[in-house]
Amino acid sequence: MRLLLMGPPGAGKGTQAESLVGKYSIPHISTGDIFRTNLREGTPLGLRAKEYMDKGQLVPDNLVVSIVVDRLESLEGDSGFLLDGFPRTLPQAEALDRRLQDLGWGLDAVVNIEVPHQTIIERLTGRRVCRQCSSTYHLKYNPSQVRGICDTCGGGLYQREDDSLETVQERLEVYNRQTQPLIEYYRERGLLLSVDGSQEIPAVLNAIIVSLEK
Ligand code: ADP
Ligand code: AMP
Repeated sequence: MRLLLMGPPGAGKGTQAESLVGKYSIPHISTGDIFRTNLREGTPLGLRAKEYMDKGQLVPDNLVVSIVVDRLESLEGDSGFLLDGFPRTLPQAEALDRRLQDLGWGLDAVVNIEVPHQTIIERLTGRRVCRQCSSTYHLKYNPSQVRGICDTCGGGLYQREDDSLETVQERLEVYNRQTQPLIEYYRERGLLLSVDGSQEIPAVLNAIIVSLEK
């Protein structure tokens, strides 16, 4: 299964990815997680990306594309993948198409998780993430069993710097301007599956699986 997960920041891409990669036994490639891991490790890539992430802007296409291409080329055999948070611009989508064509791999589907604007704000400002394994929680909608501690690995939970109200507004504007046009791009290619992401987490997962298996 070769999948893209799309949707505005806070739509639930990372949350659904955690279940989908288990169900379909595919690797999860999240560009946001890759940047945050690099930042934690203090690599030049992480420090470069931070300049953009802290402002809610997109990291330049050339940096992102080369990371994803490297990841795709390092996959063993044709085992499939789930890309989360990539592509986010038209040049990224075109670069991905070219690379997949070279590899002889077609996409199976692009899942677009739709959620209203107000829901996004509430989800992002209440989001907590594990420092160690990147599992995602929400203070109200998906709390960890012990406050501040990850259920999966026992790591500490933190609030992302870019989940402040001010940066969230900028990220939503960036999404509307640069990423939303890709929905049409994939619809035209007959790949788009849209699901209602305002339902509870298990219901969204079920809607994705049903639409994938139709
Ligand atoms: P994205 O990866 O699209 O930015 P996340 O998966 O990190 O979004 O989800 C954003 C926040 O919303 C997290 O705190 C997550 O726990 C919460 N969340 C995700 N899906 C739902 C849902 N269907 N209902 C309520 N909260 C959700
Ligand atoms: P995310 O974890 O998907 O919310 O991404 C967090 C931040 O990482 C974004 O706001 C961007 O600054 C950066 N980022 C992640 N993926 C991309 C991408 N495909 N293109 C450009 N920037 C990205």
